[in-house]
Amino acid sequence: MNVLDSEMVIADLKRHGYTVVDSPGEADLLLYNTCSIREQAEEKTYSALGKLKETKARHPEKTIGVMGCMAQKDQETIFRRAPFVDMVVGPGQLHAIPDMLTKVTSGEGRQMAVSLGRKDGKQTVVARSHETFDPLRDPTMRPTPFQAYLRIQIGCDKFCTYCVVPNTRGPEQGRSPEEIVSEARVLAEQGALEITLLGQTVNSYRHRGPDGETDMAGLLERLHDIDGLKRIKFVTNYPKDMTARLLETIRDLPKVSPYLHVPAQSGSDAVLKRMKRGYTIADYMEMFERIETILPEASVSSDFIVGFCGETDEDFQKSVKLIERCRFKNSFIFQYSVREGTKAAANLIDDVPREVKAARNNELLAVQDRISKEDNQKLIGDTVEVLVEGPSKKADRSDPDAPVVQMTGRTICDRIVVFDGNRRQAGQLMDIQIDDVSSHTLIGRVKTVEVVSLGMPG
Ligand code: SAM
Ligand code: SF4
Repeated sequence: MNVLDSEMVIADLKRHGYTVVDSPGEADLLLYNTCSIREQAEEKTYSALGKLKETKARHPEKTIGVMGCMAQKDQETIFRRAPFVDMVVGPGQLHAIPDMLTKVTSGEGRQMAVSLGRKDGKQTVVARSHETFDPLRDPTMRPTPFQAYLRIQIGCDKFCTYCVVPNTRGPEQGRSPEEIVSEARVLAEQGALEITLLGQTVNSYRHRGPDGETDMAGLLERLHDIDGLKRIKFVTNYPKDMTARLLETIRDLPKVSPYLHVPAQSGSDAVLKRMKRGYTIADYMEMFERIETILPEASVSSDFIVGFCGETDEDFQKSVKLIERCRFKNSFIFQYSVREGTKAAANLIDDVPREVKAARNNELLAVQDRISKEDNQKLIGDTVEVLVEGPSKKADRSDPDAPVVQMTGRTICDRIVVFDGNRRQAGQLMDIQIDDVSSHTLIGRVKTVEVVSLGMPG
């Protein structure tokens, strides 16, 4: 979401005459896009802002802004903790940035634009205050022009007790399918081969219009018809909405990626109940078995929170067991962080010591890494189709003119593949034969077509 928001804001500012520079020292405007999902992310931003105090004292003409979820959550607190900040902009107000900049530079003082809180008005009014301005697409502002994010859903209404997102991003709203399809067409015309549809619970997508209701399966069918698009991905999924109809649609539409990120968060029913996730492990397993039956080639990944309020060793071991049963492609593991304004912060005690959270994090990661490696090993010798993204991190450090560099890309199931190639291959779909693997990466080489010369008799 934040990568997409940054793309939109940069595209908008470019239209208003700004250009992107190579280093903060050259910039007239320094804009931080922020996350507030965990305390650590916020502290990183405050520490980065702290380093700008002297810069602002020496160059008062520079404008410093904070955008994103932390801006929505902390509001005035940001001005208090970093008084040299000129503007604070919530994720639903990004369209206001050019105007705010004009006001700051013309001496009107600090500016703040945030959306309404969940209880600050009628649901429709609150929802409208969180709407974004997505149609401003500029392929040069994307890390790779042939891959693009497309928001189909704003906000979240699930209110998991640990999570700040329903407050910072507002009520759940499905964008209209017409708007989404026309934006996807623009992206395809700009050269996007792969689009990733974004939503906090993307598979719960629904939109009611004059012609009836469109759900996620219906939307995928409409997007599948767009010429030029080769791959359609979507994140993040909510377990309860992974219906048979949706899985069958994914199976029947070849451009739709069978990569399903469906976070479980915990393997313990008691913890899931305190998290208010709305399902039990039996429900999750029923969904998982549905995936195995309808889409056996799918790769499934998950998120886990360790050390949530009241999590015992026994609860934690149930998360280990769930990873071992589901053999996820990968899992993102987070240590629980208390978030102000959430139900858990108000009603539950953060009683798992920091060291226990860290130890559980490491243990779960080790289990997941072992499983990922074992499953990746089964792919040695196979040929996979890879959308090449560009030089790998390793290649970036090597000679930029080298004829052979390590390139990286992803399979349709979201597996990362590296191989020796050249920079011109970025944006191509290539067949790569897998020779070796680690937990996170497949290592291969470009598959060469064998040419067999046959002599003509006589
Ligand atoms: N909407 C998605 C879902 O429900 O699966 C995920 C949204 S959140 C941006 C990404 C992940 O951050 C969550 O899946 C959860 O594992 C983690 N997370 C959210 N709040 C957290 C908290 N307070 N402490 C630690 N991890 C948290
Ligand atoms: Fe947060 Fe839960 Fe919504 Fe995901 S579903 S964004 S974890 S409240």
